[in-house]
Amino acid sequence: MNILVINCGSSSLKYQLLNMNDESQLASGLVERIGIEGSRLKQETPAFGKKVVEVEMKDHKAALENVLKALTNEEYGAIKSLEEVNAVGHRVVHAGEKYSESVIINDDVIKALEECIELAPLHNPPNLTGIRAIQELLPSVDNVAVFDTAFHQTMPATSYIYPLPYELYEKYGVRRYGFHGTSHRYVYQRAAAMLGKDAKDLKLISCHLGNGASLCAIDGGKAVATSMGFTPLEGLVMGTRCGDIDPAIVTYIMDKENLDTAGANNLLNKKSGVFGISGVSSDFRDIEDAAAEGNERAQLALDVFDLRVKKYIAAYASIMGGVDGIIFTAGLGENSIDNRKSICENLEFMGVELDEEANKVRGKETIVSKPDSRVKVMVIPTNEELMIARDTLELVK
Ligand code: AMP
Repeated sequence: MNILVINCGSSSLKYQLLNMNDESQLASGLVERIGIEGSRLKQETPAFGKKVVEVEMKDHKAALENVLKALTNEEYGAIKSLEEVNAVGHRVVHAGEKYSESVIINDDVIKALEECIELAPLHNPPNLTGIRAIQELLPSVDNVAVFDTAFHQTMPATSYIYPLPYELYEKYGVRRYGFHGTSHRYVYQRAAAMLGKDAKDLKLISCHLGNGASLCAIDGGKAVATSMGFTPLEGLVMGTRCGDIDPAIVTYIMDKENLDTAGANNLLNKKSGVFGISGVSSDFRDIEDAAAEGNERAQLALDVFDLRVKKYIAAYASIMGGVDGIIFTAGLGENSIDNRKSICENLEFMGVELDEEANKVRGKETIVSKPDSRVKVMVIPTNEELMIARDTLELVK
């Protein structure tokens, strides 16, 4: 059974074709600059390596047409005909409170996702466009939606209710939803397998540290707290997003800098985070390089980032009444030796003993705590596409 996984962004689209008999990757690719001059498709297959196709793609449907052509191309494709695509899994960012698990897409699901557009105006529209395009291009296959928010739906009200007038939750759904759920779910399942334990018996903290970053406390296989909130702006310091700040700062700066809501949104989402503090870049590699050369603001950005992760780890251990494992994943979590070290420093009181030698690892699934560390620290490369394909398989088989 081959499953195509689609992740549609506003002007880009990532895809993978997986053979679910052995979970091997048949092809992976990226379409960039959809609807913008200079659009191109990059595909990689184990048999033919990398291929770049430069072709104008005016919308997501055109992009997906080209993806299907590339997958079946005789010279660099992965399959002979589209009949070899048995189902399609779509990453969808926001399902509000409607879905706590992945679902086969039907008209009711589409309607529910349309209703969530207000909650995720940048993400749900391209996700829906991708779904509709595949329904037209591959009318006989089942489509499955896998939601970033779904895993967090098990959080208790104490974790998701904001201390605002309760009517705002009832009227507008203003509550914590949480994101990166598919990634947190994948890594906690891998962590349980690595530790040789049933997830039901584990208290885990998953640290998804990439350009966007969030933590999730997972008790007995269920999310009980997460750091992103009503939107992916809350919580940790991120590449360009501020995370937690005093909300009064927003109106204060709007007054001082004469910003409207779009301007304030832009400042908090695009100009803040480690980019805002360092003034160097939103990419942690650039910031680490600048810090190594003595740039104090770059070092400050890294320190503020690490401190907040540490703060959340301790908070989440206290919510769960302990922690058995801390997982580092995503671009920074998987690769940054220094950040993991700095985050784990001073957590010895909780039973976290990082092994500095074992920690000298990038992008590899492994345990990086000392053998007798009460809390296991793990590096687990995330694989959201595989999780989406597994859910799709489970629902369509
Ligand atoms: P993601 O959003 O998961 O793709 O993660 C992107 C972030 O991971 C970027 O800020 C990168 O700088 C960071 N990253 C990737 N590789 C490394 C590395 N080797 N060392 C430090 N940061 C890295």
